[in-house]
Amino acid sequence: MQKWLFFAFLFCSLPAFSQKRPSLALTHITVIDCTGAPAKPNSTVVVAQGHITAVGPSDFVKIPEGIRVVDATGKFLIPGLWDMHGHLTDATDDAFPLLIMNGVTGVRDMGGNIAQIDRWRSQIENGARVGPHIIRAGPFVDGPKEGVTNRLTVRTPEEAQQAVRNLKAKGVDFIKVHNALPPEAFFALMDEAHKEHIPVAVHLPKGVSSAEASDAGAASLEHVETMSESAMWRKGATAKTVEQAVDEILGPAGQELFQHFVKNGTWYVPTLVAYERGFVLWSNDSESLLPRFQIHEKDIEIVRKMHKAGVQIMAGSDFSDWALVPGIDLHNELALLVEAGFTPMEALQTATLNPAKFMGKTDTYGTVQVGRVADLVLLDMNPLEDISHTRKIHAVVLGGKLYPLASIRAQALQDAGERR
Ligand SMILES: [Zn+2]
Repeated sequence: MQKWLFFAFLFCSLPAFSQKRPSLALTHITVIDCTGAPAKPNSTVVVAQGHITAVGPSDFVKIPEGIRVVDATGKFLIPGLWDMHGHLTDATDDAFPLLIMNGVTGVRDMGGNIAQIDRWRSQIENGARVGPHIIRAGPFVDGPKEGVTNRLTVRTPEEAQQAVRNLKAKGVDFIKVHNALPPEAFFALMDEAHKEHIPVAVHLPKGVSSAEASDAGAASLEHVETMSESAMWRKGATAKTVEQAVDEILGPAGQELFQHFVKNGTWYVPTLVAYERGFVLWSNDSESLLPRFQIHEKDIEIVRKMHKAGVQIMAGSDFSDWALVPGIDLHNELALLVEAGFTPMEALQTATLNPAKFMGKTDTYGTVQVGRVADLVLLDMNPLEDISHTRKIHAVVLGGKLYPLASIRAQALQDAGERR
């Protein structure tokens, strides 16, 4: 991985920029800035000091002398993508080249070893390693569970409050709670996190409903299938099976529930791809394949209704060490969101503008606009015509440095060979 530094130095050594970070102009490119504005053909984007310094028609934008100019005629430019649900500790640092090759320049780490993640994060930030921007929860806050790691085990409201204070002292970006956290401890944690101004991402604890979690101030709710669990766990629940639960959510009860999310500003990260590739396709049990697939299809319908009701949604794959592939499965999630009725632009925004909004960093990430960090993906084909074209990656710009896809792949393979 160290050798990736070589690419950085290569660009640093360009004339006139030996003291500065590399600068770059992409000309004659179609910019899809992800603000929601229409695509802008024949544009030029100038990058300096790792940031976008100009975007405009190629005929008008002045290109500073001495910088690298790439004629990108016929190519399309989108902002770097964020996977808003991943687990880097489980995926290991093998995930980094896969993420970058797939245009994923940011990850919200949803539970892992904070010391390790922070080591990676500072290596990435100081240029010793190529990888995505990371925001991280650190350890999961969970109830007692066998055979799991990177957990803060919490049994009581007092322990929950203490966990919030401990995590705040560690400087976590947010807290991630998991499904074995006892309900009383969950609500105490939400109160304490609110006081300490730390956002909480919620994998729904057993016995808590999605409406209660939203009303308690969850910043985001994770995984579409927890909606069916909620329908079976909520007070006065009548649904006894997942099928009944899904049907309930597809009816008026779901509409009422979505209004909680809208009113409270709760984001939803459905991770449809995790259900499809994990619970449907990964199962060895062929008898349950069809029922699982039918639930997956209904989950897509739930996301369609949530989106129509105005719930804010972000893309996440839940990559870790099981059925999902870092980077690649984010593109599968975008395709599933289009299947759920999102326009390609809306699907792109779930991995660009929406994560920036969620993090309160729209001035830094999420769009191709002046002032934003130059994390960009050059595509060979138009993703607004077909969302699967987000996979047609020609090159990735990370913090202003251009990485042709072939160079990332070759370096990753070489690094893997050296480790063996
Ligand atoms: Zn997860």
